[in-house]
Amino acid sequence: MSNILNNYCLKNHNTFGINVKAKYFSTFNSMLELKDILKINLHKKEKFFILGSGSNILLTKDFDGFILHNKIEGICIIEDNENDIIVEVGSGVVWHDFVMWSVNQELSGIENLALIPGTVGASPVQNIGAYGMEAKDSITKVHTLEIKNKEVKIFSNKECEFSYRNSIFKKEEEKKFIITKVEFKLSKEHFNRTEYGAIEEELKKLKLKAKPASIAKAVIKIRNRKLPDPKVLGNSGSFFKNPVIKTSEFNVLKKEFPEMIGYTISNSQTKVAAGWLIDNAGLKGYRKADAGVHRNQALVLVNYGNASGTEIINLAKKIQQKIKAQYGIIIEPEVSIL
Ligand SMILES: Cc1cc2nc3c(=O)[nH]c(=O)nc-3n(C[C@H](O)[C@H](O)[C@H](O)COP(=O)(O)OP(=O)(O)OC[C@H]3O[C@@H](n4cnc5c(N)ncnc54)[C@H](O)[C@@H]3O)c2cc1C
Repeated sequence: MSNILNNYCLKNHNTFGINVKAKYFSTFNSMLELKDILKINLHKKEKFFILGSGSNILLTKDFDGFILHNKIEGICIIEDNENDIIVEVGSGVVWHDFVMWSVNQELSGIENLALIPGTVGASPVQNIGAYGMEAKDSITKVHTLEIKNKEVKIFSNKECEFSYRNSIFKKEEEKKFIITKVEFKLSKEHFNRTEYGAIEEELKKLKLKAKPASIAKAVIKIRNRKLPDPKVLGNSGSFFKNPVIKTSEFNVLKKEFPEMIGYTISNSQTKVAAGWLIDNAGLKGYRKADAGVHRNQALVLVNYGNASGTEIINLAKKIQQKIKAQYGIIIEPEVSIL
C-alpha cells in the first residue's frame, strides 16, 4: 500500500522555498505505484496537484488537498533510424539529466534547453523553451494516465496543442491527466542553433566548435552567470510570460519608448520582452521585506529568505498594475499559482 503523508512540509519541494504544508502527500516511482495510490480514491474527495520539482509554481498557502509527487525514472531508446532516434523518458527524470544523456549520445534537439530545472513530465505542460529551442519541436508523444478512469491516454504532438509556454495540459479541464512518460525524436544530424543569446560568443571564448555537447556547455555557462541558483536564492525562473501584442500597438509604443524590445512573431503580432518593461518601469532590484525583483534579471522574482507566497503574489500584482498603467500592457504569470 502506498505511503500517504499528512501535513507534509513543502519547503524543499518548491524552488521559491516557500514554507507551507500539504494536507496529504504521496510519491510514486512507477505507473504501478501511481495506480495503487489512485485506488485509495483520496483524489476524488480532495483537490489534487501533480508535482514535479516545483520549479514553476508559487505556493501562496498550505495546500488543502492531495499532492502526488512524480518520480518515474527511465530513459529507453525505442527506435533507432538512419537520421534520428525515438526515446521514451520517464516523467520523473530530471530534465537536465536527459539533456546531458542526449548530448553524450551526440544527438541534437534539446541541447539549447540545458540546465532548465524540473522534470521531463513538466516539459510538455508549459512547452519549455530557451535559446531558440522549445520542447514541442522534439516531443512526438505524451503518455498519460487519466485520473477519472485510470486509463492510459496517449497524446500525439498535434493533440498537445503546443504554443508559447502553453499546451493542452495547462487547461484546467485537462489537469485530469498525469503525464507518465514522454517520447522525443532526437536527430543524429546536428542543428547547431547558435544564433540565440550569446551562444556563439561563448563557444569562441571556450574555444569549442558547435556541436550538441559544446552548445549545452555554452548554455550552462551563460545560464549560471545570468540566473540566480534557486538553492541560493529562491525563485521560479521567469515569473511572467512575454506578452504578445498587436504589431500596430507595438509601433505606437515604440515611438514613446524607442528602446522597447519586441520580436515579430507573425504579420500582425509582436512579442514584447517583459523583462524590459519591468526594468524600464524602475522595478529591477525592487524589494519589499523578503520578496523582490532580482537585481540583474527583472523577470525573476526572488525570495530573499522568509517571504511568504502572499508577499510574492502581492509583489507580482504591483508589477502587473505598474506595467498596465505605464504601457497599457497586461503581463500574465508563467508560474502556476496555488
Ligand atoms: C532558475 C530557473 C530557470 C528557469 N528557466 C526556464 C527556461 O529557460 N525556460 C522555461 O520554459 N522554463 C524555465 N523555468 C521554469 C521551470 O523550470 C519549468 O517550467 C519546468 O518544466 C518545471 O518543471 P517541474 O518538474 O519543476 O514542474 P512543477 O513546478 O512541479 O509543475 C509545473 C506544472 O506542471 C504540472 N506537472 C508537473 N509534472 C506533471 C506530470 N507528470 N503530469 C501532469 N502535470 C504535471 C504541475 O501540475 C504544474 O502545473 C525555470 C525555473 C527556474 C527556477
